[in-house]
Amino acid sequence: MTTYQPLVIRRSDPAKVEIEWADGHKTTYTAAELRGLCPCAGCVNEVTGQRMHDPASVPAGLSQSDLRFVGNYAVALQFSDGHNTGIFPFRFLRDHDPRG
Ligand SMILES: [Zn+2]
Repeated sequence: MTTYQPLVIRRSDPAKVEIEWADGHKTTYTAAELRGLCPCAGCVNEVTGQRMHDPASVPAGLSQSDLRFVGNYAVALQFSDGHNTGIFPFRFLRDHDPRG
């Protein structure tokens, strides 16, 4: 059974989040990619699942200034556009790995 447990989450620079997983896989997101995936109720309609926030509207130079753990299953990020309501479960971060 695959677990989706990060060993290390590193904010190596303001525009990046790097995750090292327990199985050795590494995932790198730009802050803009994460912002575009934000699953919060303000970005995705909770009933229909339709994305209301346009990922194309995210500036490429977007950065993040804070990352905190939510319980033992997710992280929350503070983005430079002021958005901070997204909670990104580990499983979600692994499933959406932009580079597989
Ligand atoms: Zn959001």
